[in-house]
Amino acid sequence: MQNSQPQPSRAENDSFPLRGLPGGWPIDAPPRSLFFDLSPYGFDGATQESLISYFRRVCWQHGLLPRTVAYHAIAPLTGGIAGWSTFDIADECYEHAICGVTERAARWVGALNWLTLRTDLCVMTMLPLRELLPPFHLIAPKAKFCPACYREDERAGRQKYDRLLWAVDCVTACPLHRLRLASDYEVPGAKPFPFTIPGHSRINGESLSRRKSVRATAHEVEVARLIADLISNIKHIQGAPVCEYSLAVFLKNVAESLFNGNATELARYLGVSKSQIHGWTHGKSRASLQNLAHIAYAFGCPILDVVLGNKVMLSPRRRPSRERSPVILKLANGYKAPDERFFAELQGFMSRNPSACALDAARHLQVSPRHLRKRAPEQHATLVRQGLARQRQRVEHRQNTQDEAWRASYNSIIAAGGRPSRRTILNDLRARLGLKLGYHDVIRAQRNSLSRPESR
Ligand SMILES: [Zn+2]
Repeated sequence: MQNSQPQPSRAENDSFPLRGLPGGWPIDAPPRSLFFDLSPYGFDGATQESLISYFRRVCWQHGLLPRTVAYHAIAPLTGGIAGWSTFDIADECYEHAICGVTERAARWVGALNWLTLRTDLCVMTMLPLRELLPPFHLIAPKAKFCPACYREDERAGRQKYDRLLWAVDCVTACPLHRLRLASDYEVPGAKPFPFTIPGHSRINGESLSRRKSVRATAHEVEVARLIADLISNIKHIQGAPVCEYSLAVFLKNVAESLFNGNATELARYLGVSKSQIHGWTHGKSRASLQNLAHIAYAFGCPILDVVLGNKVMLSPRRRPSRERSPVILKLANGYKAPDERFFAELQGFMSRNPSACALDAARHLQVSPRHLRKRAPEQHATLVRQGLARQRQRVEHRQNTQDEAWRASYNSIIAAGGRPSRRTILNDLRARLGLKLGYHDVIRAQRNSLSRPESR
């Protein structure tokens, strides 16, 4: 397992001694890790800790902010990514995608394994399932949590930590407490608390174990349990005989044993389109984890049997209505629209939203981004350009705001007869505006605010 994990590219470089022996130690002494070797929490799919939670707890043990550690320790180990600045790489510490199956997760696992001298951190992500699961809609964009699990952590006297299961997008319930997962609400304009250890609200700083949660439906709990079982088996999946047609083999077996080989009947039973079944059975499209959980639920078998194409005993059960369960498959039916209506709707959307990106348009038209790119390549290219321009504008706006605030603070401190040191200005910006600047923001703001003429 260790050999298959990606290692940081600069890790083998002797000129970058992030770990080694302190001076004067015997040369045959074992190497020392840069960070404390903190033990991850959890022992099964429902309790396994996520990588982002582990990273936050490691930073807390060292009295450092996660963004600072990501900037100074994680980003240098990645060896740089084309088109990405060190700021972009460091900002990944806020994203649950580092628990997913993409290259981003691989980089973080490699870097954290290196810094802590561990070899097992990949089980805190979905990386071992990367051959089986596409990254599409796998990891939730926002954090979710079960207050009852946090209360159990408090009673047990351990740090509160986030479960890997909660990071999965289609999981909406805790299988242990049968409660619907909650999320920390947002208050527009409010200054969030620092991003440190898990289990505390960034809105008001209180313990999230006090939050109320409602009971989940039986279907939500069952889907969460199926995915928890899959995570439990994550260590045993590597090396299993998987091929891209494993799902096709499973579906063909199901169609033959329950529907006389009729794929249309199978599609109707699962509540998906016939073309979707065709794509899966001919290896033209991969099923997301939500799809796989849906299939496993419909036939009463583990997800692992579905993805490995095993021939197992099936226990078909009725699918709940779309209204009763938030985890039922959402069909994107926009592709059925005739060309005339599709392009008229797209043109109207683009003229009403001149800064919209391709993802916004795809959501509006209820199609996948891939479908939009294939069906309307010219409009898609325009939308991508618009999205990039919007992103650049946001960055420039943020930097200009910081520079202006820096100059105003500098001038006001001078006018009051004070000494405008870097620390004084930073404290002033934090106290008055709630503005926190990183090291490179400060360097840029100092340079720009002194070189540019004062704005009118
Ligand atoms: Zn729970």
